[in-house]
Amino acid sequence: MSALIETEEQRALRASVAALGNRYGRDYFADVVRSGKHTDELWAEAAALGYLGVNLPEEYGGGGSGIQELSIVLEELGAAGCPLLMLVVSPAICGTVIARFGTEEQKRTWLPGLADGTRKMAFGITEPDAGSNSHRITTTARREAATGDWLLTGRKVFVSGVDIAEATMIVGRTEDARTGRLKPCLFLVPRDADGFTRNMIDMEIGAPEKQFELVLDDVRLPADALVGDEDAGLLQLFAGLNPERIMTAAFALGMARYCIGRAVDYARTRQVWKEPIGAHQAIAHPLAQVHIEVECARLMTQKAARLYDEGDDIGAGEAANMAKYAAAEACVRAVDQSVHTLGGNGLTREYGLAAMVTASRVARIAPVSREMILNYVSHQTLGLPKSY
Ligand SMILES: Cc1cc2nc3c(=O)[nH]c(=O)nc-3n(C[C@H](O)[C@H](O)[C@H](O)COP(=O)(O)OP(=O)(O)OC[C@H]3O[C@@H](n4cnc5c(N)ncnc54)[C@H](O)[C@@H]3O)c2cc1C
Repeated sequence: MSALIETEEQRALRASVAALGNRYGRDYFADVVRSGKHTDELWAEAAALGYLGVNLPEEYGGGGSGIQELSIVLEELGAAGCPLLMLVVSPAICGTVIARFGTEEQKRTWLPGLADGTRKMAFGITEPDAGSNSHRITTTARREAATGDWLLTGRKVFVSGVDIAEATMIVGRTEDARTGRLKPCLFLVPRDADGFTRNMIDMEIGAPEKQFELVLDDVRLPADALVGDEDAGLLQLFAGLNPERIMTAAFALGMARYCIGRAVDYARTRQVWKEPIGAHQAIAHPLAQVHIEVECARLMTQKAARLYDEGDDIGAGEAANMAKYAAAEACVRAVDQSVHTLGGNGLTREYGLAAMVTASRVARIAPVSREMILNYVSHQTLGLPKSY
């Protein structure tokens, strides 16, 4: 890869993360999933090498780099067959929001642990009755005058990793004292808080990280559970959403590269006529096509990450949406073509690609669906009118 696109340090980071990922590999990941465990060993080793908090500020124990570096870590682990989904939420969303907007106390409490991987944080915005329309969320916090405590009530769905996260950053709303309107605010809710219950959702994804429905029933939180400033909730929220999209793109790119790699290996050696099947253009061209799509999506992801790290939140917003779209679409097609390349073996457990057909759909749906990105680009970029 040219130095124009990535620095020497970034390329070196890619190589060392890939080496770590390949030492664990898909067999390790598949074993973790089958036995219902978590990727604790890989998480701990990646943490010890400084990969998990590479984007967080140095003064709080992080690596002092950016989302470019963190997305490299996730993509390379994914390309080795063992992605760490919690990187999307813990250091990328929650770490970013706390580092940029948290109080000094919140930074000192949370960032060192998020950076060295000893603590994880989940992120909950999706609600059953709001879905893609996050303006409709109804999880509400009211302040108790006598104590200054917050009482948080509402429901969330599909929140990843709540069981393995010490706390969840919950997007709620508070009432504006002047206008009476509800405005978004972020709260840190400890996993064992009274009134905070979780039910695992039975997903068909084959990943170690699980999704949960959350019920918040008058969860009492101290005043300092509010992240940053009550009046800057929306701004703070957006600061976390761009890294989330960039990291989801990296997640999709890693999975796509892993599958294309398996398919190419297979197509080189599997022979049923006089040449290996990879000599048939019906097999070779679609693989070349998905490889090109992955490379293009990666370039867009690098652009989004660069804009974000340079502080251009608006430019990064558009680019991160486009990158997430392109990477998710490339991933869905790459996985589909890879499974097809293996014929019957594409659907065996031994080759391990079949489960990825479902997993590859995640990035098309979350954290913001393909259609919502197309809506965003239609309205924001192209200036077309809105239908909803
Ligand atoms: C594996 C996984 C992990 C997740 N992890 C988290 C997490 O950690 N935290 C969290 O908060 N959430 C998480 N989510 C939730 C995810 O962000 C939502 O599923 C996603 O935002 C879509 O919301 P929804 O499922 O309610 O779909 P809906 O909003 O009901 O949408 C359903 C369909 O309608 C389409 N649609 C909706 N509105 C429009 C429109 N205006 N125009 C065109 N099409 C439209 C959508 O594109 C979609 O195809 C996760 C989801 C999954 C699958």
